Amino acid sequence: MLLKARRVNRGNEEADTLAKKAITEGVVMKVLNPRCELKQHLQELFLKKWQNLWDNGNTGRSVHKVLKTVNLKPVFWTREEIMFVTGHGPFPSFLNRFHLSDSDSCACGEVGEPIHYATSCPLTLSWHIRTPSTSLESLWYQRVLENPNSRKRIINMIKFIIDNENIMRLSTHLPLYNKSSLSCIQYTEYTKSFRSQKSLIVIFLFLVFHN
Ligand SMILES: [Zn+2]
Repeated sequence: MLLKARRVNRGNEEADTLAKKAITEGVVMKVLNPRCELKQHLQELFLKKWQNLWDNGNTGRSVHKVLKTVNLKPVFWTREEIMFVTGHGPFPSFLNRFHLSDSDSCACGEVGEPIHYATSCPLTLSWHIRTPSTSLESLWYQRVLENPNSRKRIINMIKFIIDNENIMRLSTHLPLYNKSSLSCIQYTEYTKSFRSQKSLIVIFLFLVFHN
């Protein structure tokens, strides 16, 4: 009993000594962070690295215009919206890039890119959205995809392009649309009911030959 009491006393003394030492000298202690804090820290590091790769990457630049900040939350875009943003769809520019078409031009003569169809192509006049200035193109994409009406226009426009892919591109197989000597005026007009019925009603094609 006496021995045990002495041991207890000795332990108390050591504890007191260490406590005094800690007060007078200071003691650096490392305490493990909680697991959730560690997880959050790792996620922040991961997002930072991902953001850096996304900002300085070579691929997906058209999507980068719209989604500048990386996020773990999914983006709910329709198939048509994904085609519009990525440019991977029935567009002459895309088909030509992968050697699926001999020309990157739209039937109107301009480069057949998604933004061309959304803003200036006479073939998709019914769904046009105001043309962005070059410096604000990124902001334009973001606003278009935040606006329900604009999104609806884009979706219907892409559906139209899919349904009428052959008339949307400038084929060099047709001499009338030869890129080097464009010798025709193509005039396409859609009735107002076309927009609501989502189907092509009338296409007028006037060809004027020049010597
Ligand atoms: Zn066009």
